[in-house]
Amino acid sequence: MPNPPAGLCDSCAHQKLIGNTRGSVFSMCLRARTDERYPKYPRIPVGACPGWERRDQPPADRASS
Ligand code: SF4
Repeated sequence: MPNPPAGLCDSCAHQKLIGNTRGSVFSMCLRARTDERYPKYPRIPVGACPGWERRDQPPADRASS
C-alpha cells in the first residue's frame, strides 16, 4: 500500500506503486503514459476517477513492499 493510502487508485488496475530508498511508497497512474488527462502522480486520496478499472490480480510490476 502507498503511504498515505491513495483511495480509489489502490483498487485500480492502472496503479503502479513506486518505492524510494527512504521507505516511502507513491501511487503512480499508468494511464498517464497514454492519456494526458491523467496526472502521473494524482493528488491522493483519489475519490472519483473516470479511468478506474477493477484490479483482479496484482500486476506483476507492483512494488512488493
Ligand atoms: S486511472 Fe484513476 S483510479 Fe486508476 S490509477 Fe489512474 S488516477 Fe488512480
